[in-house]
Amino acid sequence: MAKIGINIATGSIQKEDAIVGIDLGTTNSLVAIVREDSRQAIALKEIDGMSLVPSVVFFDEQNQAQVGTAALEKLLSHPERTIYSAKRLMGKSYKDLSQDSHFFAYKIHDDATDALVKVQIDDQFYSPIELSSLILKELKSRAEHVLKMPVNRAVITVPAYFNDTQRQATRDAGKLAGLDVLRIVNEPTAASLAYGIGLDPNEEKTVAVYDLGGGTFDVSILKINQGIFEVLATNGDTYLGGDDLDRALVVYWKEQLEKAGIACDHSSILQQLRLSAEQAKKELSSASTASTIIAGQTLNIDIETFEGLIQPLINRTLQSCQQALQDAQLRIDQIDSVIMVGGSTRVPAVKNSVRDFFKNEVNDSLNPDEVVALGAAIQADILAGNNTDMLLLDITPLSLGIETLGGLMDVLIPRNAKIPNKAGRQYTTSQDGQSNLLINVYQGERDQVAHNRKLASFSLRNIPAMPAGLPKIDIQFLLDADGILKVSATELRSGLAQEISIKAQYGLDDSMVEQMLLDSLTHAKDDMQMRALIEASTEAEQMISTTEKFLSKYAEAINKEELEQTNIQIEQLKNRIALKDKDGIQKNTELLNEITRPFAERVMDIALKDAMSGKKIL
Ligand code: AMP
Repeated sequence: MAKIGINIATGSIQKEDAIVGIDLGTTNSLVAIVREDSRQAIALKEIDGMSLVPSVVFFDEQNQAQVGTAALEKLLSHPERTIYSAKRLMGKSYKDLSQDSHFFAYKIHDDATDALVKVQIDDQFYSPIELSSLILKELKSRAEHVLKMPVNRAVITVPAYFNDTQRQATRDAGKLAGLDVLRIVNEPTAASLAYGIGLDPNEEKTVAVYDLGGGTFDVSILKINQGIFEVLATNGDTYLGGDDLDRALVVYWKEQLEKAGIACDHSSILQQLRLSAEQAKKELSSASTASTIIAGQTLNIDIETFEGLIQPLINRTLQSCQQALQDAQLRIDQIDSVIMVGGSTRVPAVKNSVRDFFKNEVNDSLNPDEVVALGAAIQADILAGNNTDMLLLDITPLSLGIETLGGLMDVLIPRNAKIPNKAGRQYTTSQDGQSNLLINVYQGERDQVAHNRKLASFSLRNIPAMPAGLPKIDIQFLLDADGILKVSATELRSGLAQEISIKAQYGLDDSMVEQMLLDSLTHAKDDMQMRALIEASTEAEQMISTTEKFLSKYAEAINKEELEQTNIQIEQLKNRIALKDKDGIQKNTELLNEITRPFAERVMDIALKDAMSGKKIL
């Protein structure tokens, strides 16, 4: 395995750097390391003793970003410029989020397509990758400040249910922040490692990881065998967490205030109630009563009443645990260990309920806010080869992927993935009636294939004629224990298939791998900008082509003024593409989408009526 650190500032390769574990959380993020002297994993504390960094980014009028506590303070005064929960946006399209849009106080750019979401502030667009990279950059610089040495390599954690796109987005965010992402690790896997579970290669265990944070809940069932963690099932609720426990108490206290004749519809009273409720909830984790004074009125809560209020919420989490067990086809007595993660597992009623449910003691000796980062640090340490007791599985030194529209690299098997490995994804054609699809296989870390290493290329021929976007082409990568990569392509509608075998590592030595990694990090920002531009241009070109086809096909359904307006917009969009102005392209694509939407809907109506009257059947 290539073991190198790269100093981004100087571009030099260096051996003296810290390798960190990063828990990139929805609400808070933090960094941990394995100390060289004690070999213990510890969370990095700031000088003021704080280790958590709020995962919040604020943009001022000059589009300068502030991250962490300073940004959190802007949440109430500048909600439209303060981005929280960017993790919920990672790898999501607007369509994926249409149910959740009420949750976000900032503007999510709505192009109603499958394209990935962006956040809009003034006339700037930010991808979730850029937003996460700002948080990671802040974590990196804080870590460098505390450790007094460069931090260039990291393991970053993601929820077990993250799909391939979301994992790739997280990897890209790390790269954009100037970090060599050694591996993306599941949060429950990291939590298990923090408790030492899975470190012994001879160990075989089934573990449940119960993670109740501020705004989300998830439970994962893992099977650990010979150091390999397999996720058997995950379940949860992306909108259930400590905030809901607070809310239960707010509702209870609000009733008392109203009984005493105090109106609670004032936002400052509600805000006070919310903050006091969270405070009281925390006190009740170690005391039997808590109280506060709001609008001159003393409000009390005792532990029994509080537990009564929150039990229905806890029960919902237990139902998820039940479902996860069922999906994993396991009985409760087959779970060997239960691990507690997330600040809300400090609530005694939560701990007791989970213990009773699993009929097993729970692992809660580590700080539940820190366990994921601690585990990530342990994984980073293993990957760096520092932990000599640990068996290191074979891994791929460089990412493997294929070329997609616009000459972009689409990674199927990321670098540092375990060997053997298997990955697949579905693609489609970009032209109507396209009968051949050229599949170019590349290796490397750059966003444009032109900068990567071409391994092979083959064609899937004689695809039956279909409109663009309709064929479903499944591409599978199978990397065997000897490093041989088998690539297969199958058009699923017709069953047409083609396969090729490649020796992926052929002719590649360590220094070439190092050079390729160094290039990818030094060019990360330009690469990412180029990728964003190519993606925006490709999307815009497709929008133009669809609109032009539409105009010629349904000319009778569009009036002269609409036609003129649309043509003007198309011209403007073409200009933006020619100018390579990414934000302009996105803005004009949105405008074109807006003005064509009403007549697209009208034509749908006509088409529907035609179909209903029987004219166009078949
Ligand atoms: P996390 O997202 O894991 O950082 O969890 C944050 C959540 O944990 C918030 O809802 C906090 O109110 C909650 N929390 C933190 N400390 C305590 C505590 N001592 N008792 C109960 N809840 C807590």
